Formats: sequence, structure tokens, C-alpha cells
Amino acid sequence: MESFLETNLSPEILEGIKKLGFEKPTPIQAETIPVLINNRTDVIGLAQTGTGKTAAFGLPAIELTDSNLLQVQTLILCPTRELCLQITRDLENFAYYVKDLNIAAVYGGANIVAQIQQLKRGCHIVVGTPGRVIDLIKRKALNLASVERVILDEADEMLNMGFIEDIDTILAATPAQKQIWLFSATMPPEIARISQKYMKNPIEIAVGRKNTGAENVQHEYYLVHAKDKYAALKRICDMNPDIYGIIFCRTRQETKEIAENLINDGYNADALHGDLSQAQRDQVMLRFRTHHLQLLVATDVAARGIDVENITHIINYSLPDDPEVYIHRSGRTGRAGRSGISISIIHSKEQGKLRTIENMLKKNILRKPVPTGKQICEKQLFNLIDKVEKVTVIPEVAPYLEVIYKKLQWLDRDELIQHFVSVEFNRFLEYYKNAPDLNIYKESTSKSTPYKKEKTQNSRNLDQQPARSGKKGYAKLKINIGKNHGLKPTKLIGIINDRTRNRDIHFGKIEIDDKFTIFEVSQNHLEEVANALNGITFSGINVYAESLKKK
Ligand code: AMP
Repeated sequence: MESFLETNLSPEILEGIKKLGFEKPTPIQAETIPVLINNRTDVIGLAQTGTGKTAAFGLPAIELTDSNLLQVQTLILCPTRELCLQITRDLENFAYYVKDLNIAAVYGGANIVAQIQQLKRGCHIVVGTPGRVIDLIKRKALNLASVERVILDEADEMLNMGFIEDIDTILAATPAQKQIWLFSATMPPEIARISQKYMKNPIEIAVGRKNTGAENVQHEYYLVHAKDKYAALKRICDMNPDIYGIIFCRTRQETKEIAENLINDGYNADALHGDLSQAQRDQVMLRFRTHHLQLLVATDVAARGIDVENITHIINYSLPDDPEVYIHRSGRTGRAGRSGISISIIHSKEQGKLRTIENMLKKNILRKPVPTGKQICEKQLFNLIDKVEKVTVIPEVAPYLEVIYKKLQWLDRDELIQHFVSVEFNRFLEYYKNAPDLNIYKESTSKSTPYKKEKTQNSRNLDQQPARSGKKGYAKLKINIGKNHGLKPTKLIGIINDRTRNRDIHFGKIEIDDKFTIFEVSQNHLEEVANALNGITFSGINVYAESLKKK
């Protein structure tokens, strides 16, 4: 479908869409809108945040709701307050030119009296979280007797949050003759049960499993010992001074710990999890949305429904159990044509999980070397210099300059630069002075734990190369550059000589393949050579080296 004009939506709604700048329907919209408008049928939509699903159900819901009839005709249930507010905002935008359509958002953690008053004034569409909706039904403030359609958004998440009984209660309070539109990012068996219990011959619509932005997301991983995860996280953040990202943790406890550690270590981070009060959560989200907070450390449930633009990085501090959750997490970056990076920090036992995710993504997850202290210091230094060069000097600084000049006049130009660079930069130099290499070079012998769902295991290009028995006293290293990148034996030896300045290193066989190279190096220099190569850039490739263990 090339245009919304083909959808038969009424002119006021089309006008609203135009105002939002939507040019053509997203795939899920192209599939659902005609079905929902033209058939009074139940629908199950498999769609994630980022696919345009809110409009996929929101536009038909507005179209079918009669604003001349002041009663609740459409009820939308969703798991969190954030999502509730977001859906309501979206619907209000879609209905900008629709006359007299009242939409109410009802959610927990906010003053119920104000919500009751709004409902009393009359409304056509109610967007709510299950607990608060039940509360309002019990208080007789919300009458669902005239509801014609119930939309369950993020149904899987509502089930995860234990709302199943609430949903039962709410559906029981609505007329038997109604439509149910159920949207979910994943399809666990419980959804099938709901659909069997409540829905009549639902049409199933699944438009790709990925978020619209997923094409623009690069997937990377860092392999470290479990004890080094936090240190690796800090290095990744330090290597990306302008990072604006979400760090996903597994539990509330882990979320708290990581956020606290990051804050103590001077990072602009905060936590979002279920133990916070609603006001605290709002405060954190406000800071994040307005870019006053760079790193949001969150659990999946707490981060649900957060639709924030421009996220540069998603960091999986802990991999989720369900690979679909990984896909959902990573879909929060790389939106609206921008690129994004999804990073996983894993230990060797988690490599199987990563492979399952690769199978689902149908994309490689690239291994990256954990940056060295030196690389981070260089990056931070040039970032600082760049900022100094580009900063706008505002006139308000003028009155102070004379005193400042006087105070600093004993320093010449070079000294002055050294001083001011040191103010910002000493912290990094100090911290990373003797920073160890966090990369794991030897392949782990421990068995990886794949996801249970896994059926096939793709062999990973670099990690899974079979080790061949080598010359005595030599160890094998493998690097991710080869003929295609212009590597030749002399070049390789030259690079290693240049970087190690150690002429005692001996080389055995060097096999240069198209995309990678395996070579032998004197056993006692293995680590030195790996360190020398790790992290350098060759023909635009970030090089990493790993040792191949002998059979
Ligand atoms: P959602 O999946 O509903 O959270 O939507 C993700 C983002 O895509 C939101 O910022 C929407 O405003 C935007 N969006 C939804 N539909 C379209 C469309 N047809 N064209 C452009 N952007 C859209």
C-alpha cells in the first residue's frame, strides 16, 4: 500500500496523519487498517513497538468510534502507565481534526479522583492499565456496557506482569458482542489460550518480527570473564562519550547495583525498575527523554513502552532468556532511519545464546575487542579537544576574561593547553594507567548454554574454526582480516614488529584466507602478539585476535 488514501479512513483522520508527517502506511498498518475497518472481526496482530502498531489499531479505532454517541465504545488495555500515556498522546494526534472525540487515559499511581471526573464528563475511548480500570469499574466510575471493541496492547507483557485475572475481570464487564483486537510482540502459549477463550475466529496478522528500525541496527558482542562484565561496560561507555542508551539488566537488584556503581563511578546514569514509586519513575524518564540522563539502566518490564528517539546504543548487560526479548530490546535503537548499535557483554558460557539470537536475527553479531585503556584515553582526549574547538563562546563569559587572563598569564600557550587538558583528562589517564586487557583469547573449553528453543546451531565464522595441530613451541592465532582486506604475510609481520618492537617473536605457518588469517607464533609471545593486534584498525576493520587451542 503506497498511501493512506487507499485505506478508506475518513478525511479528518487522513488530515491528522498528514500533520504527523506519515507518508505511507507501515507494513503492519497496511495489513490491519483495511481488515479492522471493513470487517467486524477479531484480530491478533504480531507486532512490536516501533513497527507503527499504535496507528495500526488506533486509526481504525478512531474511525469506528462514533463521536456523536457519548459513551465508552473503545477500551484499550496496556501494561504500563508510560505506554498508556503514549498511546493516548498518539490517539489524540491521530484524531486532531476529529470533532468532539474524548479520549481518557486511566492508569495507576496517579490521582484517581481526577480520572473519575474526566470519565464523568463523558468519553468515547478509554486507554488504561488493567489495575486502574478494575478500580474504576468497582467504583462505578467506568461503565463498559457499551464497549464495542477491546484492544489488548502488548498482551504478552500484560501476561508477564500477572494481569491475566484482571483482563478476565475486565472482559467479563464488557458486552458479549464485541470485537477483540490483540497485539503482542511475542506469541507465548498463554496468548493462544486467551484467544481461544475470548476471541471468535480471529484473523492473524504477522508483519515481520523485526522492528522497522532493525535493519539499521548493528549487533556486536564483547566476550569477557563474568567478573569483568562491569569493567567492560565502563570501557564501552568511555569509548562512546556521546552514548545515549539503555542498559538492560535481568533483575531489579542487578539494575540497582549497576546503576549505583555507574553513578558512583561518575557516569550520568540512573535506574528504572519496579521498586521505584511512580513519581520516581516519571522523574527518571523525564530526565532521560530530555537527554539530561545518558544511561538508563532498566529491566525489560520497566522499559516496556518507552518510545524514545535517537537512542544510540542498547547494551545487554545480561542477555534475556528469550531471544525475542533481545530483538525487542535492540529495536529501541536504529529508528527513523538512524543507525544504532546493540551490544551484548557476555561470558563464554553465553555464546550459545548469542548464536540462537543470530539465527533469529538472520544477521551476524560481530565480536568486538574490549577497548584498551590507551584506546579509551585517545578517544576521550580527542573528544574533549573536539568539544573545545566547536563550543560556542557566549558573550556572558566576557566580564570574567580579564581576571582569568591575569591569573593564567604566567603560563605560555603550550602549558596552558596542557593544564586545561589535564583538568578533564587526568581521571582517565589515572584510571586506565595499568588497566588489564579484558579480552578472552583462549577459546573456552566449557560448554555453552544454548537457549532451550534452539534447534540448529550455525557455526560462527571466527569463533568456531577448527584448530589444526601446529608446530611444536608455536601457538595459533586467528585474526579477522585476510586477503580481501589486502593482508600479506610481510604486512602482518611488519605490523606485529612495529607494534611490539620485539624481534624475538618467531612466526610459523601463515595462512591467509579471504576474510581471516590463521598464523603460528612462538608460544611464549602469544599474548603479546594478540594484544598488539587487538583493537587496531586495518582497511577499516576493527581487528581482533584470538588464540586457537590445539586439539
Ligand atoms: P509504534 O510502533 O506505534 O510505537 O510507532 C513507532 C514510531 O513510528 C512512532 O514514533 C510513530 O509516530 C511512528 N510511525 C507510525 N506510523 C508511521 C508511518 N506510517 N509513517 C511514519 N512514521 C510512523
